[in-house]
Amino acid sequence: MERESSDPRPILYMVIPCYNEEEVLPLTSKDFLKKLYELIQMDMISEESKILFVNDGSKDKTWEIIKQLAKSDEHFEGISQSRNRGHQNAVLAGLMEAKDRADITISIDCDGQDDINAMDLMIQEYMDGSEIVYGVRNDRGTDTFFKRTSAEGFYKLLTWMGVETVYNHADYRLVSAKVLREFANFKEVNIFLRGMFPLVGFKSTCVYYKRQERLAGESHYPLSKMLALAFDGITSLSIKPIRMITVFGILVSLLSFIGVIWSVVLHFMGYSIQGWASTTSIICFIGGVQLISLGVIGEYIGKIYLETKGRPRYIISERTDDISAEINTIK
Ligand code: UDP
Ligand code: MG
Repeated sequence: MERESSDPRPILYMVIPCYNEEEVLPLTSKDFLKKLYELIQMDMISEESKILFVNDGSKDKTWEIIKQLAKSDEHFEGISQSRNRGHQNAVLAGLMEAKDRADITISIDCDGQDDINAMDLMIQEYMDGSEIVYGVRNDRGTDTFFKRTSAEGFYKLLTWMGVETVYNHADYRLVSAKVLREFANFKEVNIFLRGMFPLVGFKSTCVYYKRQERLAGESHYPLSKMLALAFDGITSLSIKPIRMITVFGILVSLLSFIGVIWSVVLHFMGYSIQGWASTTSIICFIGGVQLISLGVIGEYIGKIYLETKGRPRYIISERTDDISAEINTIK
């Protein structure tokens, strides 16, 4: 359903996931608000635009800060997830919340790493007809060497596995309400947003920006979480690993078949085959391959298991409008 309005300026919702960000939120929330007012003043977006924080089950004072912010300015709004569900689910919760109220959404991390000034260009691209605008980092100088190389390897692996993603794009992106309504039909529980939006289609472009350093606090993506995201990204969107197992299986079978023929030939030529070392190493090798293969297949079966349950992808336990409702009744 198209939002009816005579105002040509789009309503923007900035969707901002927050997990244990009490240190950073008081700083970045000011910048977000400043940017919002700037965009309104430039007539690029409507006054009805909002900054929507999604508290992802934080254990610190993040939600209290969001509630305070919502009281301090009408452009701030917040929803809180019933528990920590991870960055991807937090962004999804915010996008789904905004899809019927906004014309455009921009998802952005709350730590100040993504350059808010790229928003002007993103909105301009939307005005020029793009329905999805990907924020792409053109410089990873502030990331550690390890993060840079692992991220590079990850993108390359994804492409090789047949998962379409935009190189160096994380989750800083503008998405129109039109795209979000189509995206709402993607019902999978295991989500990897940057690999899913290209599947929706529509006209898309990239906007380049310089990745900044985190303003405060620490990254919530240690190696283990990054690997989990990489694994999820691949197994949610590609079945190539299973195919590779089949191809590898065929190759190994072919090789062993040749080996058998070769040993028969050698036998008739009078050479007896010696050595158990080579035999056992081959058995161990095949055993290892089988275990890895079972693991990969198991990963997919696990995914199917989780998908068939169809559990909700996020549960919103509180909203800041509840507070304004309370204030209204007190009045
Ligand atoms: N985040 C979240 N839930 C989580 C982990 C992170 O909502 O379980 C948020 C976090 O508050 C931040 C964004 O996701 O706004 C990106 O996280 P972070 O900065 O820790 O990751 P990095 O930039 O280091 O990859
Ligand atoms: Mg960050």
